Amino acid sequence: MPACERCGGTGFLIVDREGRDYAQPCACRDSGRASGTAGFFAACRVPPRYEHCTLANFDMGTPSLRSALERAMSYCAGYPYLGTDEGLGLLFTGDNGVGKTHLAAAVLRELWERKGTRGQFWDFHELIREIRNSYNEETRTTELQVLEPVVETDVLLLDDLGAWKMTDWMNDTLFYILNSRYIAKRATLITTNYQDADRERVLAADPLRRKEFLVERIGQRLRSRLMEMCLVVNLLGQDHRQARQASNQVALRGSSRLGEPK
Ligand SMILES: [Zn+2]
Repeated sequence: MPACERCGGTGFLIVDREGRDYAQPCACRDSGRASGTAGFFAACRVPPRYEHCTLANFDMGTPSLRSALERAMSYCAGYPYLGTDEGLGLLFTGDNGVGKTHLAAAVLRELWERKGTRGQFWDFHELIREIRNSYNEETRTTELQVLEPVVETDVLLLDDLGAWKMTDWMNDTLFYILNSRYIAKRATLITTNYQDADRERVLAADPLRRKEFLVERIGQRLRSRLMEMCLVVNLLGQDHRQARQASNQVALRGSSRLGEPK
């Protein structure tokens, strides 16, 4: 099937809505499974707070967010036949509130709606807990069949990687999961608050002023595997929560001024 001339096969057109750019679904999209989104949340384990997230309502308020959305759209359009520079999965990095999980959940949903792809959303902490629970005290081994769905799902979304420090044994188990997915050529989407950097950049950074880097949270072995299996998409933007708070404060100040007796 030739790619649609209007959207180039991504299924979206970038349009201006009240001064902001959004991705609008193109007419070439068939409604497909769109009616059955209720099934999506149960099937893909997407938590309620991310249920509304689609590519179409991702707010690309900065050039960086716009290029992150475009990257996500072309990833979805190409899936599962990804080019050599596309990577098997995507690693979204950026500060809190910038929209990483929105974008990753939207990719999961887009693939489910348009390609029928099975996926699973896992919060990193929840996965760590699952790994811990899968440890058998008597045999002193991990019961890996507990983790089978995480290894075998078509697309794994691992949210907030690095948010918790891992023991060596947890790190080994996480490496096993991600490496098995890599070998089987299954896509993994990851979000993290920690910036990626190679060894030189980590060493060059001012130790007193900098935040921790991803490699310091997850270790060198896991980081190099991730670099082979994911394309890094860095999101730079105004923090949505901060922006909302600031506008609330302006509104509050406005209303209190109105109420003040003169
Ligand atoms: Zn189209």
